[in-house]
Amino acid sequence: MPKYIVLLGPPGAGKGTQAQLVAEKLGLAHISSGDIFRENLKAQTALGTLAQSYMTKGDLVPDDVTIAMIRERLQRADCAAGALLDGFPRTPAQADALAAMLADLGGDVKCVPLISVPAEVLVERLTGRMSCRAAGHVYHVMYNPPKVAGICDEDGSELYQRDDDKPETVKNRIAVYERQTAPLIAYYTARGLLVEIDGTQPIDRVAEDLLAAVTR
Ligand code: ADP
Ligand code: AMP
Repeated sequence: MPKYIVLLGPPGAGKGTQAQLVAEKLGLAHISSGDIFRENLKAQTALGTLAQSYMTKGDLVPDDVTIAMIRERLQRADCAAGALLDGFPRTPAQADALAAMLADLGGDVKCVPLISVPAEVLVERLTGRMSCRAAGHVYHVMYNPPKVAGICDEDGSELYQRDDDKPETVKNRIAVYERQTAPLIAYYTARGLLVEIDGTQPIDRVAEDLLAAVTR
C-alpha cells in the first residue's frame, strides 16, 4: 500500500531542504507544488502563466488548478510506493481533495510532520535563500552555503534568488500561511496525524527528528 507523508510548516521552515534529504531514504517521490509551478513558469506553459500572477504576489494559486496538477503528478510511476508532499495541501479544500485522491490510489496520509519555526526567523531564512536553476536545490547564504559561491553543489547550475523571496513578498507569504494554511494544523491534529518538529535546530538534527517521526 503506498505511503504518503505531508510536510507542513510556514514558508522558510525547511520543508524543501528536509524533503531533499529524506525522500530517497524513505523510498518516496518528493513532490513540491512550488517546484512544479516554477518548472511550468520556466517552460512557459499555460499553467505557468496562470500561476505566475499569484506567485509573484505571494498569494496561493487557486485550489482547482493546484489540485488538478497534484492529481496528475500522484498518478505517475515514480509515486508507486507513495510520496513526500512538500507545499501541498495548503488549504482545507486541498486537504479534503488529497484524501479523496489517495483513497482512489488505495492509500492515505500516514503522518503530518509540522516543522515549527517562529515567524521572526522565517524572514531571515527566506531572504537569504538561494535556489538552483536546474532542479530547485536549496541553500542559504549563511546557514547552508554552497561549497562554491553561486554554484549548486549537486548539479553545478547557477544559484539565484527567487522573486518571491524579496522582503515585501515574504511578508505576504507568511500572512497567507497564517490565514489559509495554518488551519491545517487543527485539521490533521483532529485526525491524529500531526507530529510537531523543532525546525530551529540545525538541518541534520531536524532530519533525524523527521525520520524518527515518520518511521515510528
Ligand atoms: P521551505 O521549503 O519550507 O519554504 P526551505 O527548505 O527552502 O523552506 O528553507 C528555507 C531557507 O532556510 C533555505 O535558505 C534553507 O537553506 C534554510 N534552512 C532550512 N532549514 C534550516 C535550518 N534547520 N537551520 C537554518 N537554516 C535552514
Ligand atoms: P513554495 O515553493 O512552496 O514556497 O511555493 C511558491 C508559491 O507557489 C506559493 O507562494 C504559491 O503562490 C504557489 N503554491 C505552491 N504550492 C501551492 C499550493 N499547494 N496551493 C496554492 N499555491 C501554491
